[in-house]
Amino acid sequence: MVTSVPSTNGHSSNGAAPAPAEQPGLQVYSLAGRVALITGGGTGIGLEIARCMVAAGATVVITGRRESVLQASAADLGAGAHYLVNDVSDLSGSDALIEQVEADFGPLDILVNNAGINMKKPALEVTDEDFSRIIHTNLNAVFALTRAAGKRMVARRSGTIIMISSMAAYYGIDRVVAYAASKSAVEGMVKVLASEFSAQGVRVNAIAPGFIETEMSRTAMNSDPDRRDRAMRRTPMGKFGKPSDIGHAAVFLASEGARYVTGVSLPVDGGNSIGF
Ligand code: NDP
Repeated sequence: MVTSVPSTNGHSSNGAAPAPAEQPGLQVYSLAGRVALITGGGTGIGLEIARCMVAAGATVVITGRRESVLQASAADLGAGAHYLVNDVSDLSGSDALIEQVEADFGPLDILVNNAGINMKKPALEVTDEDFSRIIHTNLNAVFALTRAAGKRMVARRSGTIIMISSMAAYYGIDRVVAYAASKSAVEGMVKVLASEFSAQGVRVNAIAPGFIETEMSRTAMNSDPDRRDRAMRRTPMGKFGKPSDIGHAAVFLASEGARYVTGVSLPVDGGNSIGF
């Protein structure tokens, strides 16, 4: 058992300044007063990240390309949720998006790079255009928006960035070569950015979802029952995840509860990444 050594001068026994008072109980996971931007927040995983962050008290801005989808989702999320139509693949708009969020809602505390696209094709049939399209949305756009938000967060010495990775960055899933390359690169980016930004008060992490039931995964799985069975067989919990499973993990990573967590990729996968 480790016991603390009482100090007579209000400092800890190693002479460091006393730590600020701990927030009691669940308050440490509160996002009250925080502003969060979630790309692709109108559907699937992004929508449930938004719902969990609104429930934790954040002001949330969701983005995507389809206004009707965003409008309905923001209304469903209720007070605390807002939307902006934005195509992340237009890199020239990255700085303007962050500027607009900050002008409308105040300094951005949380960026969740969730928007992403997939394509299933044998590698030998993937054209340069196919490959570039996936890399552009899932990697180039993530970097451009992260740089735009990161500049401001680092200057304020405050903020946190969450990437959405994938099991495709962990092990070899056939027919998703561009997608796997994009998510593997995002994992590398997390480590570099965490080592550059963390000393300046900005934490950078990833969540690697396992097989989560959304529109994107349904399209990939329903057309391929064998793939569905293989994914299930190596998931020790014996079920696919819900988008809200990722939402809860995102709230944790964005909160003070994770204040000493940076540079990690957290699998939220029912054990899929360690399954035999
Ligand atoms: P969805 O297809 O439901 O959501 C993707 C979202 O991204 C949509 O809201 C879409 O909105 C938005 N989006 C796509 N392209 C752009 C763009 N160019 N600009 C702005 N928004 C865009 O998929 P999921 O919820 O399943 O996926 C979310 C993230 O989770 C992705 O990064 C995905 O790779 C990752 N993931 C998902 C897994 C799963 O099992 N579902 C597993 C592992 C990772 P719109 O079309 O209106 O622009």
